[in-house]
Amino acid sequence: MKILFVTAEAWPLAKTGGLGDVAYGLTCALADRGHDVRLLMPAYPSARERLEGPIKYLSLGSGAGSVKGQAQTSSTKGQAQSEGQAQISQSEGQAPGGGQAQPKGQAPTPSKGQAQSPAPSKGQAQSSNRYHKQKIIEGRLPGSEVSVWLLDDPELFERVGSPYATASGEPWPDNHLRFYWLSRVAAAIAAGEVLDWQADILHANDWQSALAPVFLQDYSESHQERPRTVFSIHNLAYRGIFSADVFAQLELPAAMWNPERLEFYGELAFIKGALTLSDAITTVSPTYAREIQTPAFGWGLDGLLRSRSSDLHGIINGVDTTTWDPATDPHLAANYSAPDPQAKAKNRQAIAVEIGLDDDPQSPLLGFIGRLVEQKGIDLILGALPRLLASGARLAILGSGDNTLERALLQAAQAHPGRVGVSIGYDEGQAHRIEAGSDIFLMPSRFEPCGLNQLYSLRYGTPPLVNPTGGLADTVLDVDAHAGGNGFCTAAADAGSLAATVERALSYWQDQEAWQKIQARGMSADYSWDRSADAYVDLYERIRATGWQRR
Ligand code: ADP
Repeated sequence: MKILFVTAEAWPLAKTGGLGDVAYGLTCALADRGHDVRLLMPAYPSARERLEGPIKYLSLGSGAGSVKGQAQTSSTKGQAQSEGQAQISQSEGQAPGGGQAQPKGQAPTPSKGQAQSPAPSKGQAQSSNRYHKQKIIEGRLPGSEVSVWLLDDPELFERVGSPYATASGEPWPDNHLRFYWLSRVAAAIAAGEVLDWQADILHANDWQSALAPVFLQDYSESHQERPRTVFSIHNLAYRGIFSADVFAQLELPAAMWNPERLEFYGELAFIKGALTLSDAITTVSPTYAREIQTPAFGWGLDGLLRSRSSDLHGIINGVDTTTWDPATDPHLAANYSAPDPQAKAKNRQAIAVEIGLDDDPQSPLLGFIGRLVEQKGIDLILGALPRLLASGARLAILGSGDNTLERALLQAAQAHPGRVGVSIGYDEGQAHRIEAGSDIFLMPSRFEPCGLNQLYSLRYGTPPLVNPTGGLADTVLDVDAHAGGNGFCTAAADAGSLAATVERALSYWQDQEAWQKIQARGMSADYSWDRSADAYVDLYERIRATGWQRR
């Protein structure tokens, strides 16, 4: 099958969180299965620099659907040449910006009836001009056989900062335009209108590419057949919400300003384009697929998701088992494996020194890595801190995000030198070392679509301790509730339950024989992409087999 996978980030070209890992792991697994996968994402400076060759520059032509792309220049150099001030803009752990998550449970203000349609203003999205300027840089995802197309539009993407936000964390003010164009170009490519290639499947991901099915619908006016569309929700909290006047700035069909389409209580929600028009919707775990159909987790979209429940599938993420393998991981102080786990202790010593902790083998080390946002429950760790420290534990924490949470963590480290180690920033190598060096991995998330860190920690012999929601509920089985348990689950998402669960876990940790059994179960399980990639292929085949229908 010819699959166009469109995403705002993909490791190692640019990554802020799980989507980057999934984009890499899933496209590699699809390519390994013999499918013709093309990954389309913006040409951020970091992506240009890291793209592997041979590199080609393709033109998009002068208008949507009119001119076929032609290879312009090519080079065998391993890096795309950068025009302008290319400098690494690797994310700093920012939350995917644009359409910020509303505080959980806070319903958007409903507008009275249908909000007035903002008058479409011609030309603000500057379609023909932009198409003239835009190019595609073709290359390969490093270390893989996956073909990459970078959407080269320096005015939109050549910036120092994260994919979604400035270096100081403010969402880029033109995110609506940046990702409108990613979606629009994706649809044009998938429909075979601008390059010499046409997709069977367009697989869009999160709000940044959620308008692609809207444009494909447009193309189908002139074509009997159009590529089938799959949309994956990696985190429903980010819906790409913008004020109504943005609708007028974008060249979108006027009929899309409708509560049945893009309008969301008087505002514009990019994600609704895909939720209403994709052939199939997936999310990254079966439990999250059920949760988002309820008001508590649905962010105002649970009704829409319930109406599409027969097209909504939960497919758990896999792990890239090459990058995340304690036996070969180059970031570690010492490698180890399930049959030979002894060297894990060396990693504990090493991360303790690295993050400023006293090195005490009698004291269990609790690890945390993640975006510092309310979702991840870092405030619960801070709330439970007195009890955690009283039980003898030390903490190694890596993250960045919300300034208040960053400050609170740094204060905790200052108040407890040698016992709380905090590293603010984004550090891929240190993330691997915390996974390897910790005894227990903490994930008290309030909601978690899938979660990858708990899967990494299982592989690294670091039993996870989680609030069992979303993908955490699907992957972590409490040792006290299951004979084959691999970790620990809290009774509720609050500081008291977290502290009580850590104390319970430590009673197992004191008994090293029991502990090693729990570690071994996690380390020997299969978390590879194999099963999940097969599930996506099945889904692609099923939607291809159903006849085309206008939605
Ligand atoms: P989310 O997608 O909500 O951020 P996931 O658990 O699905 O959460 O994926 C997070 C990914 O991002 C993991 O690979 C994790 O190691 C990585 N990560 C998050 N924050 C950091 C950080 N500060 N430094 C390094 N890696 C990080």
